[in-house]
Amino acid sequence: MDSVVAALGFLFGCHHHNLSRVFTIHGRTYRVCCDCGAEFKYSLTNMSIERRLPRDPMLTGLRIA
Ligand SMILES: [Zn+2]
Repeated sequence: MDSVVAALGFLFGCHHHNLSRVFTIHGRTYRVCCDCGAEFKYSLTNMSIERRLPRDPMLTGLRIA
């Protein structure tokens, strides 16, 4: 499992291994890096991370609104 996380760090630019549990909010499923706050879209179908999400999209939206 650690090697998988390390590979993700290499691919997504996050070298932290301390990922949160899987969240599902507003129909989006993702995990968050507890160290740097990076968000990763998580596929329940594949049981793996698909891609990194932009930083704090929901918080940014709330500020604008
Ligand atoms: Zn991180």
